[in-house]
Amino acid sequence: MLQRIRGTQDFTDLTLFNFLSAVARAHLTHYGFNEVMTPILEPTDLFRRSLGLNTDVVTKEMFTVKAGENEEAICLRPEATASIMRAFFNNGIQERPWRVFSLGPIFRHERPQKGRYRQFHQLSIEMIGAGTIMQDAEFIAMLDTFISENLRLDSYALLLNFLGTAEDRENYKRALYAFLEKQDNLPRAIQERKETNLLRIFDLKDEECKKALEHAPVLTDSLCAESRAEWDNLRSLLDQLSISYVHDPRLVRGLDYYNKTVFEFSSLDLGAQNAFCGGGRYDHLSIALGEKEPVPSMGAAFGVERLLMLLEARKDKLALPQKPPLIVLIPLAPEQQLLALIAAQELRAVGICCEALLEGASVKSMMRRANKLGAQYTILMGEDEQKGNYITLKDMVSGTEEKVKQGDMVEQVKARVS
Ligand code: AMP
Repeated sequence: MLQRIRGTQDFTDLTLFNFLSAVARAHLTHYGFNEVMTPILEPTDLFRRSLGLNTDVVTKEMFTVKAGENEEAICLRPEATASIMRAFFNNGIQERPWRVFSLGPIFRHERPQKGRYRQFHQLSIEMIGAGTIMQDAEFIAMLDTFISENLRLDSYALLLNFLGTAEDRENYKRALYAFLEKQDNLPRAIQERKETNLLRIFDLKDEECKKALEHAPVLTDSLCAESRAEWDNLRSLLDQLSISYVHDPRLVRGLDYYNKTVFEFSSLDLGAQNAFCGGGRYDHLSIALGEKEPVPSMGAAFGVERLLMLLEARKDKLALPQKPPLIVLIPLAPEQQLLALIAAQELRAVGICCEALLEGASVKSMMRRANKLGAQYTILMGEDEQKGNYITLKDMVSGTEEKVKQGDMVEQVKARVS
């Protein structure tokens, strides 16, 4: 048999995935976010412009799709924020803020490992046209409530940083560059990024790089007075909303379009790939995409697979949907199969969940199968039942059997399972 493509997954049981989607939809609707869906295929340029030409996603991780001759290059989307911003403009949306979310597959050609796939899912939540720090605080509080109250996760941390304005970052980059210039024996990876994508040196997680950057200057020390006031305000608002966070001065996030507030939610329960949600403010994304005006915005993306890993370990605490009681119909001989099929349809018509065993197996193996399916009752239909116009209703828990007139079957079963 052919094997699935490396870094992709088969979901053979969607219980937890559907639970997560349902809880997310309910929570976000409660906060006034509407669900949207954008295409999986997008112009490659959308991400070259938004994420930046020197980001890992654009240089190494894009799945480019063969387009027709003379057609623009297209790819499988490596994230959803740029798509949602494109949709905002393409559809002439006037509403501001435009509060939307989207759940769907995302594609990145990364080295697969635990918690890291080439096709995975993100729940992206965006607030397009929202420019205040107060809105950042509201947004982060909304995410925190989702994680702690709706998903009931407890061992996680909110890491927070403030990237300031483009000018703040230029000042900071100068200070950082000067610091690096003075260091001897810088690891190769830092030396490379120093010239191409300086801030990304903080995404290098190996011990040697971390050590080399231990005494590097921090971004929040390079903020201008206005940015500093916003950063102080953000922290004070989060304190007043009783949201715990840790200031992580090294958090720069992997994508180019962020400014001001950036954050990540992470959990030690996840191992090396410990971030399960990342986001921040992207005030200049619209400009990068070719618009004249900045549209200040805030967004976040949850890695659905990583949330599922966390939920899997706490399954017992979750209000997962219970399976409805099941009735299994057992025709004792092929002559009663049609009868069983019709009876099953009648029961389903009144909302009863049932399954007729029509494989022509032996009675013993059908009883075993009914047990395996977790049937609450079985309905036995043999020659005697057919001739006498009745069915035998067997309670699978107590093992008791009773005869029920065929005409009363629906009512009798309904009375027992509802
Ligand atoms: P990003 O768009 O890179 O900010 O990622 C947002 C979230 O998506 C991360 O915090 C992860 O939880 C998740 N994520 C990113 N890349 C992957 C991947 N390759 N496989 C699984 N989840 C991922």
